[in-house]
Amino acid sequence: MKIDILTLFPEMFAGPFDNSIIKRAREKGMLEIHLTNIRDFAHDKHRIVDDYPFGGGSGMVMKPEPVFEAVEHVTAGGKGSAARVILLCPQGGVFDQETAKRLAREAHLVFICGHYEGIDERVRERIVDEELSIGDFVLTGGEIPAMVVVDAISRLIPGVLGDEESFIHDSFYDGILEHPQYTRPREFEGMPVPEVLLSGNHEKIRLWRRKMSLQRTMERRPDLLKLEDLSAADRKLLEQTEED
Ligand code: SAM
Repeated sequence: MKIDILTLFPEMFAGPFDNSIIKRAREKGMLEIHLTNIRDFAHDKHRIVDDYPFGGGSGMVMKPEPVFEAVEHVTAGGKGSAARVILLCPQGGVFDQETAKRLAREAHLVFICGHYEGIDERVRERIVDEELSIGDFVLTGGEIPAMVVVDAISRLIPGVLGDEESFIHDSFYDGILEHPQYTRPREFEGMPVPEVLLSGNHEKIRLWRRKMSLQRTMERRPDLLKLEDLSAADRKLLEQTEED
């Protein structure tokens, strides 16, 4: 997977992509992340990348020319090339685990980070394949959203987490929340670990975890549970939960 991030502030990415799991994935060559400064594609004397909005109003708008050139530079062709060009934008579709799974199958992703009042509309019209928001709030720039989206996608690339299977048990992967997790000590400040987890009985543990996942989802995110889509076994577990 190759990821290009186009930004006016490449130095903001130093921490998140140079530590822990993402750092290891980059070192092992599973993930290539390239940062490109959009300002490098402003050719005037002062390397200007923004200007006043036509029609008036507050703030500055990022000019289209440097963004077009930066995208052409990293894709060698722009729209229609093998790369998927994504604009981080509060008006885009809200990013979720399904989107992360879909994008983790792409070979080359290009993220454009806006700043100030945003980017000239013609960028969106001509060279963007998809717009993504990380939620219904407005941040100062697309850099933090790009970090969030790239992190979520990267951990789904085969081999990045080491243990291939671990992400399939995470919350949202199959639509529900994960079960509670415990580690040593067996008892902490009067709170024991549930007995079933110490039993060594894998089937009992699997059923307990599934039941806890369903129960948690029902309590915290009932919007995620489509009762009609649940298997008969899951429905039985949920009924047991209600009886508990
Ligand atoms: N004026 C724009 C609007 O009202 O839709 C907001 C511009 S915002 C201050 C500047 C940049 O931050 C955007 O171009 C986008 O790249 C990024 N951004 C802000 N909030 C975001 C969000 N929730 N998701 C993704 N990107 C966001």
